[in-house]
Amino acid sequence: MTAGRAATGERSDGSAIDVTTLTAHRCRELLAAGEVSATELTRAYLDRIAAVDEAVQSYLLVDEPGALAAAATVDAKPRAERSPWEGVPIGLKDILCVKGMETTCASRILKGYVPPYDATVISKLRAAGLIFLGKLNMDEFAMGSSTENSAFKTTRNPWDLDRVPGGSSGGSAACVAASEAPWALGTDTGGSIRQPASLCGVVGLKPTYGAVSRYGLIAFASSLDQIGPLTRDVRDAAALLDLIAGRDPRDSTSIGLSEPAGVPDRGDLEGLRFGVIKEFVGDACDPGVRDVFDSTVDAIALLGGVCEEVSLPSVERGVAAYYIIAPSEASSNLARFDGVRYGHRTAHSQDLYEMYTRTRSQGFGTEVKRRIMIGTYALSAGYYDAYYAQAQRTRTLIIQDFEQAFSRFDFLISPTSPTVAFKIGERMADPLAMYLSDLCTIPVNLAALPGISIPAGMSGGLPVGLQIIGPHFSERGLLNAAHAVEQKLQVEVVAPLAEVER
Ligand code: GLN
Repeated sequence: MTAGRAATGERSDGSAIDVTTLTAHRCRELLAAGEVSATELTRAYLDRIAAVDEAVQSYLLVDEPGALAAAATVDAKPRAERSPWEGVPIGLKDILCVKGMETTCASRILKGYVPPYDATVISKLRAAGLIFLGKLNMDEFAMGSSTENSAFKTTRNPWDLDRVPGGSSGGSAACVAASEAPWALGTDTGGSIRQPASLCGVVGLKPTYGAVSRYGLIAFASSLDQIGPLTRDVRDAAALLDLIAGRDPRDSTSIGLSEPAGVPDRGDLEGLRFGVIKEFVGDACDPGVRDVFDSTVDAIALLGGVCEEVSLPSVERGVAAYYIIAPSEASSNLARFDGVRYGHRTAHSQDLYEMYTRTRSQGFGTEVKRRIMIGTYALSAGYYDAYYAQAQRTRTLIIQDFEQAFSRFDFLISPTSPTVAFKIGERMADPLAMYLSDLCTIPVNLAALPGISIPAGMSGGLPVGLQIIGPHFSERGLLNAAHAVEQKLQVEVVAPLAEVER
C-alpha cells in the first residue's frame, strides 16, 4: 500500500487491502465474501478522491451523501439477497442524465440543470445496485480530444499532470487511472472513450452502434454516439457492457447485443486473423507509439494469431467526413438549448430573439460555436450537396472498406491514438491538430463498429493503447481476443501519482 492511500477492510489474515486499486470484479468478490462493506468501499473511494482530485480534477461533482446513503442501503440487506454488482461504486460522465443530480455536459448553458429522469443506462445501473460516486469532467458537449474544452476545469493525465488525459471522456479515463473509481461510463462519438483510455492507460470500449440505449445521453451526433465502459481490465469492460446493453423502447435505434459478452476467458488467438490497418501505422504515428504497436503485433503472433497488413483506402478521409457529419448533427441537436427549457438564460434581453442569441452566445464555448457554425453551413440549401451529401457518400465508402476487410479478417488492429498524451495547451490553438488525435478511431464510429482500446505498453513513461476493431455485434469475440492480448502483455494500469497524495 502506498502512503496516504485509503485502506479499508481487513483480510482474514489481518492484512489491509487498498481497495481503490482493485478491479470492479475484485470489489465484487470482496463484498460477496464480506471482507469489505459497501460503505467501507465507497468511503475508500471518497477518501481517495479527496486526496488526489485537487491535482487530477476528474470530477465535476462528488455526491458524497448520495453515495454513502446508497451504500448503507446495500449494507442493510443480507448478502444472500443482493444482486451480483450491488455495492460496487462507479463514476459517470457528466453527459448522462441522472435524476436529481446536476448534469451539465461541462457547459455553462446547462449549469444548474437537474434532470427529472434517469438515462436508460443509469436506470439499469441503479437497478443493479451500483453506487454513483459523481459526475466526471469532459469536453463541452463531448466536442474535443483533451477535456480542455470543459467550461469548468481541465482534467490532468494521472501519469503526467502537465499533460491532457485525452477526451472527450477525459474525466472518466483519468478517474479510473487515478484510482478514483474502479470503473466509469463514457461516451464515444469519434473516439471519446478509446482515445482517453489509450492516453491514460486504461481499457475503453465503444460498443456497436445500437448495442446500448442512448436515451438520456445528451445528444452530440446521434448517428455516431454510443455509451461504453472505461475500466482497469477487459473483464470489467465486458461486465459493464452486459449491465448497460439491451434494446430500449425509448431509443428506436437500439437493438442490444446478439449474445452477452460474458466473462472473457480466452487464453490464445489460434485460428484468428488480424488485419493491421496500413493507413494508421505509417508516418501518421509517433515512432514511440509505433514501437509499442510492433511489439503488440509480435505478442499477437506468439498467441497464435495471424497478422497481415490490410489497406482501407477510404479511412484516410474519415476525419474530413466526420467533421461535416458530426457538426451537422450537432447544429440540429444543440438547437434545443435556447434559454427556455434548460439551464442558463441571459439576464438582459429586450425581446425573444435577443434572449435566444445572448443566451447561446454566453452559454456555449468556442469549440461548440465553431461546430454549430460548420454544421449550419454544411446543411444550408446552397452547400448541402457539396458538403453533407458528399460526406455521407464518403461514409458509405468507409463502411464498404471495413466490410471488405472483415471478409478476410476476424479483427482489425491499429494504435488507438497516433501519439501519447500531449501537453496541456499544446493543441488548443490548432483545431486541425486536435481533430487529428482521432484519426484512428473516427472511421470506426462512421461504420458503427465496436472498437476497444487496451493498454499496450509505455513510451517515454506514457501509456500507449492498442485498438482492436470487430464486425458489428462481435463484442463477445472482441472482448475475448482483447483479454488474451491483455493477459500476454501484462501492462500496469494504476498510475503512481505518488507526488500528489496527501
Ligand atoms: N474528438 C472528437 C470530436 O471532438 C470525438 C469526440 C467524441 O467522440 N465525443 O468530435
